[in-house]
Amino acid sequence: MRVTVIGCSGSFPGPDSPASSYLVEADGFSMLLDIGNGSIGSLQRFHGVLDIDAVCISHLHPDHCLDLTVYWIARTYCPGGPAPRIPVYGPEGTAEHMIKAYELEPNPGMTDTFEFRPFEPGPFALGPFTVTTALMNHPVEAYGLRIEHGGKVLTYSGDTGRSDVLVRLARDADLFLCEAGFEDRPDLPPDMHLTGREAGEHAQRAGAARLVLTHLLPWNDPAETLAEAKASGFGGPIELAEVGARYEL
Ligand SMILES: [Zn+2]
Ligand SMILES: [Zn+2]
Repeated sequence: MRVTVIGCSGSFPGPDSPASSYLVEADGFSMLLDIGNGSIGSLQRFHGVLDIDAVCISHLHPDHCLDLTVYWIARTYCPGGPAPRIPVYGPEGTAEHMIKAYELEPNPGMTDTFEFRPFEPGPFALGPFTVTTALMNHPVEAYGLRIEHGGKVLTYSGDTGRSDVLVRLARDADLFLCEAGFEDRPDLPPDMHLTGREAGEHAQRAGAARLVLTHLLPWNDPAETLAEAKASGFGGPIELAEVGARYEL
């Protein structure tokens, strides 16, 4: 599978990146993990805007979901006629949340364009991928995702505080895309975000092969986040996510 970083800014878009979004492709099937603010613009630098077969939304904070509203326009009103209806996986209430954000009438809402489905608890097939989700530690219903294809594993944390469940979800992952939204400071709120050091510790415990730090907040110093992760004891390669970075697994 191939993973492309479309947006990796945490909590709000930064000068060089939209908020969270990652393109995952295999066997001609393309899906977006998260669709945060600005991601639909960035997507067009790397991929046909309509050539998406599924969207997975980790949680309903705007930096992870809000561009689904404008993506609805792109797919519904494109000049060649509406693009095929695609599944959108997310927490309970995703459809209602999006309708409200757009101020659409609930019937039909966005259902002619998107087939909204709640995440299934066990592993499920999505195109050529096997997807496993797990609840993370965040103030709202938020999921981490494990995507498997051809014996390779991508794990994406979404947003989370420290989590043993995340360690299990990232077990032996070839690529662990882990949020590092906090810089190490005293009195950080629990069950919100991870620091670079904590991301590294989760990767170490999971036995992940490679760690990419993401959800980088514009007011943080990325060099500090990277240094924290490198001091965590994780033995594999660590890097900061960047728009356009591609990983072949
Ligand atoms: Zn976030
Ligand atoms: Zn969040």
